[in-house]
Amino acid sequence: MPFDEKIDLIAKLKSENPANIALQCFDPAYFQTLDSDGQRRLMACLNSGIENPDSEMGCYACQPGDYDDFRPFFAKALAARHKVPKDARHENNWSLEGVGELPDGGVLDFSAIGLPALSMRVRVGRNLADFSLPGSMTRDDRVSLEARMMDPFGKLIADPGFGGAYHSLTPGSPNEIDAAAYQKLVDDHIMFKDMSNDTYLTAAGIASDWPYGRGCYVSADRGFIVWVGEEDHLRIICMEHGTILNRVFDRLKAALDMVSGIEGLEFAMSGDYGVVTSCPTNLGTAMRASVLIQLPNLTSDGTDKRAKQIAKPLGLAVRGLGGEHTPIGADGTVDISPSARFCITEAEIIAALYKGISLLKKEEDRAS
Ligand code: ADP
Ligand code: MG
Repeated sequence: MPFDEKIDLIAKLKSENPANIALQCFDPAYFQTLDSDGQRRLMACLNSGIENPDSEMGCYACQPGDYDDFRPFFAKALAARHKVPKDARHENNWSLEGVGELPDGGVLDFSAIGLPALSMRVRVGRNLADFSLPGSMTRDDRVSLEARMMDPFGKLIADPGFGGAYHSLTPGSPNEIDAAAYQKLVDDHIMFKDMSNDTYLTAAGIASDWPYGRGCYVSADRGFIVWVGEEDHLRIICMEHGTILNRVFDRLKAALDMVSGIEGLEFAMSGDYGVVTSCPTNLGTAMRASVLIQLPNLTSDGTDKRAKQIAKPLGLAVRGLGGEHTPIGADGTVDISPSARFCITEAEIIAALYKGISLLKKEEDRAS
């Protein structure tokens, strides 16, 4: 479709979809100031929101420089999504020092608030600075990126603190796993789901060429995981069943420092916006810290409706037992994480999860 027709289509969709942030922030006058390459690039970012007008965010970055290069668009979209001023700057900081309302000694222990051991997970997204973001990658790019990771993963596998193996979905890869082994990793909450079923990621180009260039590294103890080729080039993850939330957070930071010190891995960063991610909702920290927790009273109708109502004002998001867009567990287990990622520090996110869970537990007990 020629751009002038697309601009008309955006204008129509904009009036019909007030909640679609990208459509609301699109300004034809700004678009006209861009050269033809700029117009093509910005339009690519909006494709998912045009094809899925019910989107909340409605755009994905396709190149590491998109947030900076199309700042007049993205500054508005980020302000609308993250409720920050248009000139907001993001600062990364993993230190809990100075973060308010921490328990004594900064130990975030769920047993201190009467909870049993929970499955705890912290992930960060990272993208390599010298590749297009997943929305604009070719199949060759995806396979080359996976190949680039073999040396870093080899270093992790050789390190007694990590060990483990890399599992690939790329047809013909020496590390290829079969469909049953893949499904087992998905069921074990280790590997990501088939992205080609996601209409947002498909329209964005992020799910293209599935399953080429997709895979995951899993440490020997299965507590440290790196996804390759999902919504961001890499998702770096720590998981553990326990009560001390600091353990997954500290392990992730240490592992991230090690991985980012490996030669050949330069991560995309923006001077003002922090860690660059495909989805503007993740920009800044790219961090989601979650626990799986049983809330039988708040889910007694078999859905997460009530839990979501209670969680939202606490700044918490509710997902299903298998992650985003999945149903809750039969025993009322849900995935709870702070919603904020941008203009908040990593340390503040982990503290917000602890505090949010303690407040949510009170609501669960009250609902009994
Ligand atoms: P993200 O977008 O943060 O990477 P998803 O919602 O796509 O996460 O979920 C990915 C996988 O991670 C799913 O299998 C989900 O159940 C799992 N997961 C998320 N949080 C936890 C947790 N605290 N413990 C165990 N598994 C988890
Ligand atoms: Mg996700």
